[in-house]
Amino acid sequence: MNRQEEFVLRTIEERDIRFVRLWFTDVLGTLKSVAVAPAELEGAFAEGIGFDGSAIEGFARVYEADMLAKPDPSTFQILPWRGDPPGTARMFCDLQLPDGTPSFADPRHVLQRALTKAADLGFTFYTHPEIEFFLLEQGRDANGRPIPVDDAGYFDHVPHGTGHDFRRAAITMLENMGISVEFSHHEGAPGQNEIDLRYADALSTADNIQTFRTVVKEVALTQGIYATFMPKPFSEHPGSGMHTHLSLFEGDSNAFFEAGAPYQLSKVGRQFIAGLLRHGAEIAAVTNQWVNSYKRLWGGGEAPAHLTWGHNNRSALVRVPMHKPNKGQSTRVEVRSLDAACNPYLAFAVLLGAGLKGIEEGYELPPETEDDVWSLTDSERLAMGIKPLPSSLGRALEVMEESELVADILGEHVFDFFLRNKRQEWLDYRREVTRFELDRYLPRL
Ligand code: GLN
Ligand code: MG
Ligand code: MG
Ligand code: MG
Repeated sequence: MNRQEEFVLRTIEERDIRFVRLWFTDVLGTLKSVAVAPAELEGAFAEGIGFDGSAIEGFARVYEADMLAKPDPSTFQILPWRGDPPGTARMFCDLQLPDGTPSFADPRHVLQRALTKAADLGFTFYTHPEIEFFLLEQGRDANGRPIPVDDAGYFDHVPHGTGHDFRRAAITMLENMGISVEFSHHEGAPGQNEIDLRYADALSTADNIQTFRTVVKEVALTQGIYATFMPKPFSEHPGSGMHTHLSLFEGDSNAFFEAGAPYQLSKVGRQFIAGLLRHGAEIAAVTNQWVNSYKRLWGGGEAPAHLTWGHNNRSALVRVPMHKPNKGQSTRVEVRSLDAACNPYLAFAVLLGAGLKGIEEGYELPPETEDDVWSLTDSERLAMGIKPLPSSLGRALEVMEESELVADILGEHVFDFFLRNKRQEWLDYRREVTRFELDRYLPRL
């Protein structure tokens, strides 16, 4: 046993922990959990805990697959919402095949593999997510629509509002779990909030996002409301995104920074953005994985619909923030397509993979687009070489299916499991007659 593992066992005894939840994530980003008694942990550290690994394939499971869950002791954390002792703790797990090799079906492993590739090129990958979500009353209104908890807007201060109490409770709990929050505020739509996590290495951030979703949902329930990361719950309001700031470091220095260059962006930084743009359509099914995700990317609501970049352009897919005149080590690029209902492990892996491809192949960065892309006509956009993001999940899947890059980043298993789930979802949606159609066509046709 190593020192971290010993520390975990000692803490469990001292803090009277009765259950340890072993967490992992399926291909769709759903958190999975198996609880074990503390007595099992020594064996779990040494050999892993056996379970039916097909749980990782999402809802389109095919057959049982023996797998081992091996807890990562560096992720040990007591769950504060479980209350007084005896308590409950959790650890994220790495999944292994019975022979001890990593499971290629494990999304966490997909990200680890992508990070190893970056490390081989001399880079560490950092991410900083801005997570948006809605707080809703329980139940629906008479028309079946969700009911937001308030009527406030962008950065509104709601003195004793539900959102205010909620953010305070949620942030306290996140900090108790070692997750630092940098920023939080009311977002543009009624009931919509944003909480930004401090930047960290991409694997920790992805783990933190999984914890964050759980904490936010738990805290909302204790306040008699509920929280959703659904990308677009209201037709008439903006959706919820998860803008994510990305940077590569070489040792202690930011590889995107070059003093004196335009936007202080180095060649590596420019090539990384070029990779994100060139492969943006191929990776969209992963960064925006639900039918509903594409309702957010329709061309308004400060969400991107085209593969462009800029520095103060809120319709761009990639933005280079310029808050500080001399931003040096904090140089980064903000990807604005992502939504918080993605699988963060897979989404970070494809973003990193697309950016690294730009560096490896030396892609040229196209000129930035400072015009508001939404207000241009299709032919104006075409003349400028501006390509659209896929307009639906179906379209995104067609592009992804042809992508060698995405197949390579996800690996054969995850690529197949993911597509199987998503094709099924798209088929389910295609045969559905929507309210839009009934309202528009019944009286007229
Ligand atoms: N909610 C917007 C989106 O869907 C973003 C708003 C913002 O943070 N500027 O992306
Ligand atoms: Mg923000
Ligand atoms: Mg925001
Ligand atoms: Mg932002």
